[in-house]
Amino acid sequence: MTSEIEKTKVLIIGSGPAGYTAAIYASRAGLSPILYTGAQPGGQLTITTDVENYPGYPDGIMGPEMMEDFRKQAERFGTQVRYGMATAVDFSGHPHKVIIDDQITIHADTVIISTGASAKWLGIESEERLNGKGVSACAVCDGFFFKGQDVAIVGAGDTACEEASYLSNICTKVYMIVRRDEMRASQIMQNRVMKNPKIEILWNTETVEILGEDEVTGVTVKNNVTNLTQVLKISGFFVAIGHEPNTGIFKGIIDMDETGYILTVPGSTRTNIEGVFASGDAQDHIYRQAVTAAGTGCMAALDAERYLASKELS
Ligand code: NDP
Repeated sequence: MTSEIEKTKVLIIGSGPAGYTAAIYASRAGLSPILYTGAQPGGQLTITTDVENYPGYPDGIMGPEMMEDFRKQAERFGTQVRYGMATAVDFSGHPHKVIIDDQITIHADTVIISTGASAKWLGIESEERLNGKGVSACAVCDGFFFKGQDVAIVGAGDTACEEASYLSNICTKVYMIVRRDEMRASQIMQNRVMKNPKIEILWNTETVEILGEDEVTGVTVKNNVTNLTQVLKISGFFVAIGHEPNTGIFKGIIDMDETGYILTVPGSTRTNIEGVFASGDAQDHIYRQAVTAAGTGCMAALDAERYLASKELS
């Protein structure tokens, strides 16, 4: 049951680069947005270490620190940043209604969804313990830290193939751990990794344990046909077994693809619901970068601003 009701012109759900950038633009446009952070304030970047590919930071920056900067910049122009989770939505008519923590109802003229996505993990203890200490779910973000070293990547989809190829340009050797005797990736991507002399594919192979105390030193893998185990000496372990968009509360309400990514009208952030916009990884399974998420956050704020003006709500 909800008790309080509050009104806003712009409600932003999520606090990664997309949400905060939308907030910076919307607040500078005088729309006084309210932003709810979600369960992981700052988003996926708060679980990474150094970010070296975001323009404007020539010496790199720690992920959590960068997200603090984003938050401060959004607050500077009047965004109300609040801790809380959107737990239900009603987009059946104007104004849109969003329930926060099952307690507060926000009546919003526009809603910007920037709830992001979460990497899927293997779920073994050593993976969690060594996360950020050699274990990563983003080769483009963290591959550089293993320049000239041996690494392993688990997965057999397009992402794993793309990331294995990317890593092969930086690292000495890339072990690709594939649990079946075939890959899910498109043929062209498979051919690319199979032809790459720096990539060794281990078929029918599963990860048993990642080794190391404070940093990754190796990984024990097991062939699930022969049951033989072996230790690969590596210093980086990449998990590329897919992502899950955090869009569960919009299911059946907002148009999505079959894997739950929100569909937007090409060239915009508009969804199938008037006044509801989507930005960042919740609607992008291809690029998934902080800078691209920030770009679509900017687009969402501009789309919301124009929508409000067209309805004479601004
Ligand atoms: P996918 O879901 O396509 O592939 C996930 C892979 O991880 C599968 O090979 C799966 O194995 C494996 N896997 C899942 N769980 C485990 C586990 N516990 N242990 C070991 N392996 C596991 O995800 P992707 O991120 O690769 O791709 C997502 C979508 O994005 C796809 O539609 C893809 O085509 C698209 N994409 C397109 C790109 C492009 O066009 N350039 C680039 C990147 C992605 P199994 O096959 O045995 O189930």
